[in-house]
Amino acid sequence: MHPPAELVAMNTRVYDVAIIGAGPAGTTLGTFLARAGLRVAILDRDQPPRFHIGESLMPETYWVFKRLGLLPALRASKFPRKYSVQFVSHRGKESVPFYFFETNPHESAVTWQVWRADFDAMLLNCAREAGVEFLGGYNVVDLIQEGDAVRGVQARSTANGDETLAVEAKLTVDASGLSALIARRFRLIETDPLLKKASIWTYYRGAHREPGIDEGATLILHTREKQAWFWYIPLPDDVVSVGVVSDRDYLLRSNRPEEIFQEEVANCPAIEWRLAKGRQFGPYYTVRDYSYSTRQPAGPGWLLVGDALGFVDPIYSSGVFLALKSGELAASAILSGFASGNLAPETIAAWVPAFKKGVQAIRRLVLAFYTKEFSFGAFVRRYPEHRKRLVDLLVGNVFNEDVHRIFDDMARMIPLPE
Ligand SMILES: Cc1cc2nc3c(=O)[nH]c(=O)nc-3n(C[C@H](O)[C@H](O)[C@H](O)COP(=O)(O)OP(=O)(O)OC[C@H]3O[C@@H](n4cnc5c(N)ncnc54)[C@H](O)[C@@H]3O)c2cc1C
Repeated sequence: MHPPAELVAMNTRVYDVAIIGAGPAGTTLGTFLARAGLRVAILDRDQPPRFHIGESLMPETYWVFKRLGLLPALRASKFPRKYSVQFVSHRGKESVPFYFFETNPHESAVTWQVWRADFDAMLLNCAREAGVEFLGGYNVVDLIQEGDAVRGVQARSTANGDETLAVEAKLTVDASGLSALIARRFRLIETDPLLKKASIWTYYRGAHREPGIDEGATLILHTREKQAWFWYIPLPDDVVSVGVVSDRDYLLRSNRPEEIFQEEVANCPAIEWRLAKGRQFGPYYTVRDYSYSTRQPAGPGWLLVGDALGFVDPIYSSGVFLALKSGELAASAILSGFASGNLAPETIAAWVPAFKKGVQAIRRLVLAFYTKEFSFGAFVRRYPEHRKRLVDLLVGNVFNEDVHRIFDDMARMIPLPE
């Protein structure tokens, strides 16, 4: 292999697999690859612990945690337990909580609400213990290419901008989250035309908490005209993460996120009283246009996982689960590829079609939620036989054909886009 001339003077390291990004997707993938004996580097522009959105987990994360060996640490953590999700209508009517153990009487029905800084640091420790080399504080600025093929990455130190690093690898995996470095470079991003949304979120201390097993429940609350919805996610230390989501053009109507957020709180009495005795702290964060898919999951020498492969609206808290799951599935495919000496894109991305079908089920439930006509309560009252399938979708049990059977009846109730 011949690196470009300007790299010759760089500090060069060589691995089997280079992973861009130490989020849940990259660290899960790295752990499984390193445990199987591959030489793996994960590069991240940040050093842990770093702030990140995505605090509410889906119960099906349990099985990946089990394989990673993280359950004991999670059980011992101070992360609140999440037993259910509950919806509050635009009229303030509260649905019965969807307790995940109703359809699955097993420990895996209970999950956690996490501070991502601590949670991601746990995942990264796991990867390092498995033998992954973590190159923290390195911003990946370019790909090393040889013809069509990707042969690694070029990175720049965030502490010392003059220091550069070339990481050469047989395979480069993009786990860079919404940065989606490779997909953007190769123009593979397809923004979801039905989900042009934005979000503003912040944190409160001392706001309302339910007693007992409902303390860690995620609440999803519609505003009065159903123009926006809030998440309400209880975190450790009496903190609640509170975010509002709506159509991008409506929500980002000025460049004063705090003002817009508070206007929407005033539009949602069910959130207003919950926040009344709390105190807001820290910045108001904004993010937009995050729902997209990618036209191609892999190519010569490269593969996409986690958000870098695609992202669907945060309403059902599916992002971290899909990141973990894609890391796990990609690891199996990559290990088969290394074992057989075949790293062709079809081999390393063989898991993607089935994965995308599961994501599609989540997306259809997202689209249902955004129709003015949809109500979870009304749907399960009319079709009680679908309650288990609905809970399956809410917990992340989406990689089975059965869940798709919900949508024909749903389409009879509401104008559900294909
Ligand atoms: C508003 C909102 C709310 C959400 N709420 C939830 C929720 O409640 N529950 C849930 O499960 N999910 C939620 N998500 C989704 C969740 O945040 C993501 O799905 C999840 O973090 C994806 O993990 P990942 O490993 O793919 O990427 P990330 O966790 O984003 O990790 C990517 C890593 O790549 C690094 N990186 C990026 N570019 C570079 C570069 N050029 N060089 C080096 N490093 C780089 C970043 O520093 C980062 O550490 C939410 C998302 C949004 C937008």
